[in-house]
Amino acid sequence: MIDSLELITQELHRLEETKTYKYETALQGPQGGVVKVGGKEIVMLASNNYLGLSNHPAIKKAAIAGIKKYGYGVASVRFLCGTQEIHYKLEKKISKFVGCEDTILFSSCFSANEGFFGSLINEKLGFENYKDVLYSDKLNHASIIDGQRLCKSEAVDKKIYNHADMVDLERQLEEDKNKEYRFRIIATDGVFSMEGDLAPLRNIVELAQKYNAIVFVDDSHAIGVCGKTGRGTPEASGTLGKIDVLTGTLGKAIGGAAGGYISGKREMIAYLRQKSRPYTFSNSLPPSIIFGAMTAFDLLSKDRSVVKRLHGNTAYFRTEIKKLGFTILEGDHPIVPIMLGEAAVAQDMSAALLKAGVFIKGLWFPVVPRGEARLRAQISAALSKKDIDRALGAFERVGKKMKVI
Ligand SMILES: *Cc1c(COP(=O)(O)O)cnc(C)c1O
Repeated sequence: MIDSLELITQELHRLEETKTYKYETALQGPQGGVVKVGGKEIVMLASNNYLGLSNHPAIKKAAIAGIKKYGYGVASVRFLCGTQEIHYKLEKKISKFVGCEDTILFSSCFSANEGFFGSLINEKLGFENYKDVLYSDKLNHASIIDGQRLCKSEAVDKKIYNHADMVDLERQLEEDKNKEYRFRIIATDGVFSMEGDLAPLRNIVELAQKYNAIVFVDDSHAIGVCGKTGRGTPEASGTLGKIDVLTGTLGKAIGGAAGGYISGKREMIAYLRQKSRPYTFSNSLPPSIIFGAMTAFDLLSKDRSVVKRLHGNTAYFRTEIKKLGFTILEGDHPIVPIMLGEAAVAQDMSAALLKAGVFIKGLWFPVVPRGEARLRAQISAALSKKDIDRALGAFERVGKKMKVI
């Protein structure tokens, strides 16, 4: 008889042996620029709390007001009795902020991405025999990959293009030009979480126009972060209003609690309300989240200083960490990969930095290619200059001790 727990235990041991086991470190308080771990104050360089809104007084106050006014939860999905007027209000706010006609909320961006591809590709829409084609960046987020996995294999050709490689993407589009595909969809992260680089959206939009493709962009690491006013990669790349389907999370810069969305053309969003399974069969977002997120967008619209502070902190950290002699991947996103090479170095350095008062996570194979192990710093507007300097000091001490610099 096969013992399932025995096999599972073996796999857990294998993860530990190959150093791919994911350990959790519990914070003893709220997320912030400085957090409490093991009774000590630690500078946080690993969160997606880009704007420092996770524990912002105005956001917390709004969330509490949401509960007081609209309750704790709605105990339903949207189309039954789970829509409150505030759901539409937040959707309108997001649409306005990202420059799209309409928006549909999900419980997370993961489910937004799971809800998009299949709802389009698995439907005949008047065709008896059809095939769609997906072009997906090699480094796309797991939720885009899983969303595409939910498409019926007979209805779609799934193609992967090399990361941000427009020559490769165009080669594939050209190759398929005369094939009778129904929809052609190009799917990309707006910002790639391992590299902190932005997708070449201008080129992608151009190619999409040339080959009549739909552009899908997941701006989870970019909403509230990229562009002068935090409107995301379309703002940063000058393609505002040119992205057909724009998804994002409310779980990173926008307060960091939970929630996701898809923005796009009115008809597309109306269609997703009918066909998207995580929308139809999963609970509505609670009022606390809706109020928190609305306040985050209001704050961003009224006050440009938060995004400016994030960009300033990022530029400062990038300059100073290089001055210390570390090698980083160049760019301007608050995700700053500090390249170390061997997995063991990244692991040891991450542990040593925690002891020295800096919370930072390492990434190594198989998450990134072999020999490209790194620490991934994520800068936040919640960090003061003093916090960043404290972190840089720890980097210098630990880096010298480990002979990395
Ligand atoms: C974080 C992230 C998600 C998941 O967002 P959730 O709202 O936490 O589900 C999806 N896509 C990308 C690109 C992300 O970085």
